[in-house]
Amino acid sequence: MNTTDSEDLKKRMVSYLFSDHSVHQLRSIASSPDSHLHFPLYVDFAELMDYDPRIAHLIFSQSNTYLQLFDDAALLAHRIVLGEMAADEKNKVVEKKFIHVRINVGGSPLECPETFPSIGRVRVQHRGILLTVKGIVIRSGAIKMHEGERKYMCHKCKNSFTVHPEVEARNFISLPSMCPIQKSKPCGGSKFQYVENTIVCHDYQEIKVQESTQVLGVGAIPRSILVILKDDLVDVVKAGDDVIVTGLLTAKWSPELKDVRCDLDPVLIANNVRRINELKSEIDISDVMVMKFKQFWNQFKDAPLKGRNAILRGICPQIFGLFTVKLAGKHIYPRLWLFTYSP
Ligand SMILES: [Zn+2]
Repeated sequence: MNTTDSEDLKKRMVSYLFSDHSVHQLRSIASSPDSHLHFPLYVDFAELMDYDPRIAHLIFSQSNTYLQLFDDAALLAHRIVLGEMAADEKNKVVEKKFIHVRINVGGSPLECPETFPSIGRVRVQHRGILLTVKGIVIRSGAIKMHEGERKYMCHKCKNSFTVHPEVEARNFISLPSMCPIQKSKPCGGSKFQYVENTIVCHDYQEIKVQESTQVLGVGAIPRSILVILKDDLVDVVKAGDDVIVTGLLTAKWSPELKDVRCDLDPVLIANNVRRINELKSEIDISDVMVMKFKQFWNQFKDAPLKGRNAILRGICPQIFGLFTVKLAGKHIYPRLWLFTYSP
């Protein structure tokens, strides 16, 4: 992507933000008094696709680059709204530094199995695209502070550019070998200097999301994935919440330990997180399921313990034996206890 192309795309993103329902979001961001907070700006992917299919496709296929560009476009749109609002003295407006476009894929073609796989089916092919997964938060880590970016100046052309730490390299910042500034021709500079006070810190939290056991067959092991939350997404979900996470799949090296093979662990860097707990109560159990449940226990009405044993055999069949352990597990997990309890 060269500079003119990216400027053109940024303009089109700004015009999208002004065309749809984002204007009221931009106005409310401008009126908020705190200039240092990170603000989300929600964009419906389905609407973006209708308005500008090329931008929608770039956001989907090269999410990392174009989501950053979309954030820049959001800041540009914010400054325009700020200028308009400041013209009226009644409005109290404050310029913001951080706005993040949060993509909602609901109702768009991205809700298909290729881009919305179950967590157990996430593979290398999903790297780099806008991916959505659904599950239950089983662990939410401590909130930390992370260095998000810093600026360097090229000695040759005197332009400055931003570098981001790489999750793959455990957040290590590596400098490019050549100056990334491209005007009419590449600059070619290779000496850079850190620009004072340009480090931007972010709130940072890791959570673990596990696929719902409701969608798995009997005996299947639920898989989980590590999700990185940043800025306004931090501290919005807790363990036990049902969530839909949209983000970018990447991987990070496991910690270096002597004599231990180094592995890459898959990680999803979240762009958007939606809690869907409220939808949970609407899930009703079908009459067929009720009938199957009754039929099952009917078979064992004279010997309910045999029925219980049949269920226990169905739990984690990969684990051979360990019957007593599974039985003990049943007492630890009350939901399972209810299920195995014969009426
Ligand atoms: Zn340069």
